[in-house]
Amino acid sequence: MRHIAIIGSGPAGYYTAEACQKQFGDDVRIDIIDRLPVPFGLIRTGVAPDHQSIKAVARRYEAVALSDNVRFVGKLAIGRDVSIPELLALYDAVVLATGAPSDQPLGVPGEHLPGVIGSAAFVGWYNGHPDYADLAVAVDGRAIAIIGNGNVALDCARILAKSAAEFAGSDIVNHARDLLAASQPRSITILGRRGPQQIAMTPKELGELGRLERASAHVDPADLPPPASDEVLEPGQRKSVALLREFAQDHAEKAVPIRFDFFAQSVRIEGDGRAERLVLQRTQLGANGDAVGTGETYAVPANLIISCIGYRTPPIPDVPYDERRGRFANVEGRIMPGLYCVGWARRGPTGTIGTNKPDGFMIAEEMAADQPVPSGKQGRAGLDALISTRGLDIVTFRDWQKIDLAEIERARAGAPREKFVRVEDMVAASRI
Ligand code: NAP
Repeated sequence: MRHIAIIGSGPAGYYTAEACQKQFGDDVRIDIIDRLPVPFGLIRTGVAPDHQSIKAVARRYEAVALSDNVRFVGKLAIGRDVSIPELLALYDAVVLATGAPSDQPLGVPGEHLPGVIGSAAFVGWYNGHPDYADLAVAVDGRAIAIIGNGNVALDCARILAKSAAEFAGSDIVNHARDLLAASQPRSITILGRRGPQQIAMTPKELGELGRLERASAHVDPADLPPPASDEVLEPGQRKSVALLREFAQDHAEKAVPIRFDFFAQSVRIEGDGRAERLVLQRTQLGANGDAVGTGETYAVPANLIISCIGYRTPPIPDVPYDERRGRFANVEGRIMPGLYCVGWARRGPTGTIGTNKPDGFMIAEEMAADQPVPSGKQGRAGLDALISTRGLDIVTFRDWQKIDLAEIERARAGAPREKFVRVEDMVAASRI
């Protein structure tokens, strides 16, 4: 029997489990381990609460989770409760599918002032991640600056701009909905260090910004290059830029203006004990398409600043780490004999949820090539012995199903669920 431990129960973890089932058939036992008592990682706490159709993919993961040779071990932190060398001694293969849940630092003076947060924290807060349940966010009357031109920046702007009614059918947690419903930002500025043709925003998500009840999107026509230059863009990017061109033509301003400020690189954050202003430097595109400072600086008022500039994978003790890239040191997913990584922990925070699927299959094939015959290790029996010796209180998939039901039962009218935001409440719901 081949024993595999997958650390992380998000898309990368479940696609890897599915690939291992296909690769090894009945000859495999898979433990999917998560530090939280609830599965599905980014699907639960990353995907925007008003994008429920994307979350439907969790049903596919559930089918994998309920198969006989897969189990979920929740509330077990690898590197704290159990070490990587211990897991390597018990399993034929250990796969790190831990994602990239930490914010990339901005790297400018003032970034630690109150009022400056990263998207991991803000998204975690409105999505009910226990790590961010107590984040203090003030939105009402604020001039909000969102740094970054990717889809996460769009998610943050849209959630901040929506009216209470626009959260109908979403699973935004009550603490965020209540605060946002009672707030109206003064303005939202989305800052890109490069230009409109260099955005990393996809058309569907950008289009949503143009259809908000109380917010309107604005682009300065002077920032747009000649329309003919869009022809060389790939079709998706061309559609996104076309939407920016529409925003530039629409001058009707609603209560919450969302302004795109392109060619703007953050220089520092200023304020008396908390963020008040963001100082920026104008940029222009360099010969290889990068942002080059022009030396011209200016300031925008900003008393809530959210940086949406990408993520890092936190290191785990005993695992080689690539500090510069912010992920595990690996060659095509191989870290060291028996230890692999997949998804964002392997390749960084890019791509869609589906991008993780081929990743999982690649790793399953590598495992088969690296170790054609299982080594006779103990697998889950050995892990259970460790858990019992250490008196650890883990959560199973059946326990999660109880949490799931309890969350569905306590949902406000029209919402799919009301998440528990504290680990102890999740555990309590699982013990009923
Ligand atoms: P992203 O797509 O990589 O975008 C990051 C943005 O941050 C880029 O505009 C980048 O600009 C900018 N940036 C990086 N460092 C910066 C700095 N020091 N100063 C200013 N700007 C900086 O990352 P993301 O938005 O975090 O999204 C992560 C992945 O999840 C992406 O693949 C995204 O498409 C996906 N996602 C999808 C959805 C959806 O489909 N609904 C929603 C959310 C996220 P440069 O281009 O100049 O580097």
